[in-house]
Amino acid sequence: MRLISRVLAAALALCAEPALAADKQEALTFLRPDAVFDGENAVLHKGWAVLVRGNRIEAVGPDIVAPAQASVIALPGMTLMPGMIEGHSHLFLHPYNETPWDDQVLHEPLALRTARATVHARITLMAGFTTVRDLGTEGAGYADVGLKQAIEQGIVPGPRMLVATRAIVAPGAYGPRGFEPGVAVPLGAEEAGGPELVNAVRRQIGAGADLVKVYADYRWGPGEPSRPTFTEGELKAAVEAAHSAGREVVAHASTAEGMRRAVAAGVDTIEHGDEGTSEVFAAMKVKGVGFCPTLAAGDAIARYRGWNGEAPVPKGVQEGFDALAKARKAGVAICMGGDVGVYAHGDNAREAELMVKGGMTAAEVAIAATSGNAKMFGLGDRLGTVKAGMLADLVAVEGNPLADISAIRKVALVMKDGVLWKGPLGR
Ligand SMILES: [Zn+2]
Repeated sequence: MRLISRVLAAALALCAEPALAADKQEALTFLRPDAVFDGENAVLHKGWAVLVRGNRIEAVGPDIVAPAQASVIALPGMTLMPGMIEGHSHLFLHPYNETPWDDQVLHEPLALRTARATVHARITLMAGFTTVRDLGTEGAGYADVGLKQAIEQGIVPGPRMLVATRAIVAPGAYGPRGFEPGVAVPLGAEEAGGPELVNAVRRQIGAGADLVKVYADYRWGPGEPSRPTFTEGELKAAVEAAHSAGREVVAHASTAEGMRRAVAAGVDTIEHGDEGTSEVFAAMKVKGVGFCPTLAAGDAIARYRGWNGEAPVPKGVQEGFDALAKARKAGVAICMGGDVGVYAHGDNAREAELMVKGGMTAAEVAIAATSGNAKMFGLGDRLGTVKAGMLADLVAVEGNPLADISAIRKVALVMKDGVLWKGPLGR
C-alpha cells in the first residue's frame, strides 16, 4: 500500500505543471458551510470552517478565521465533506439497457469507448466522486491508463483514478461467447492461467495497472451458474506477483468456493460475494479482506429484466442484501462500490442508498464512501478525511448526509486537489 501511495504521489507531482503548481501554492480558499462531516466520525461539526492552501487542507475547525487574501466561499445549508470515492466503477462501460455488454465489447470502436469514458469521468467528478477505483476496461485494453493521464494533465475533467487495466480471467471462462469454437473474438478481459498468469499480472502492472483484478469465478457456459475458475495455487501466485510489485489484488467472486480460494490466496478485496457464507465472511474478517457488495449492479440488472422494484424481490437482488448482512455480522470492512457503468455514471449514490436499504446507517455508508474506501485502497494518508495536511478533495452537499444518505445527490460544490470544479465562486 505504501508503494502505491508513493507511485501515485510521484505521478501527481510529475503531472503538475510547475507554473500552475506555484500559483496553487499561493491560492487560499476559505470554505464556510453550515457543518463539516470529517469522513471518520458519525457527527456533524456545526460551525466549522475549512481553509485550503494550494492543493492541501491547511486548517479545519470552529475557530479559524479567513486570512485577508483568502477567497471566501459561503455554503449556507450545506455540509462540507471529503470528496467521495467510488469503489467499483467501469468508466468504459455504459448502461446495459442502452447497449448490451456483449455489443459494447464486440462492436464499439476503442475511440468511441474512450470518448464516452471522458464524458463519464466528468459526470462522476461533478457528482462529488473525486476518486474512482476503476475495475477493468472490459475489452477497451489499456485505455484507462491513458484516460487517467488525460485527467492528471488537466486535458479532461475527471476523478483521480486507480486503474485495473484489462483484468485477468481464466482461459475459456469469460465472454462474449457463442461463436464457432476456436474462433478468436474480442474478450472483456485478458485470458491467462498456469505459469502465464504471473506474467500477465506483471505485464498489466508494467502497462500502468495500479491494482490487479482477477476473476475467481464466472459462468463457464451460457445459463450456467458461476463456478470457480482459477485454482487456489494460481490465485496465490497472482497475488504474490502483484503484492511484490506493491499492487493490491481485487477478486471478482460470487460463489462461496471462489471467495474462499481468493481469501486463502491473500486478495485485498472481494467484489459481489452474492453466495458468500458466514464461514467465508469470517475468514475475510480474520485476514482483513474488504467487501464490495455491488448492490446497485444487481438492482439495475433485475430492472433491465423487467422487475418493477416491488415484492417479490428477485433472487439476485436478495442475495446481495443477504451477503451484506452476513459480512456486517462478521465485522468485515464494507466498501462502497456499485459496479457503476452497468447503470449510469453520475448515479453513484444509488449504491449508497441501497446499502442503507440493506441495513447500514446513513453515517456508516458516508464513512465507507470516504475514509473507509480511502483506507481500504491505500489512500488513507491523503484522502477520505477533512483534516489539516490532507489533499483538498472536498464536496458540499445540501442537507445532512449522516441523517439522509440521499443528500449526497445534492452536490453544490466539488473541489479536487484544491481546484474548484463546481460551486459558487468566492469573493
Ligand atoms: Zn465490475
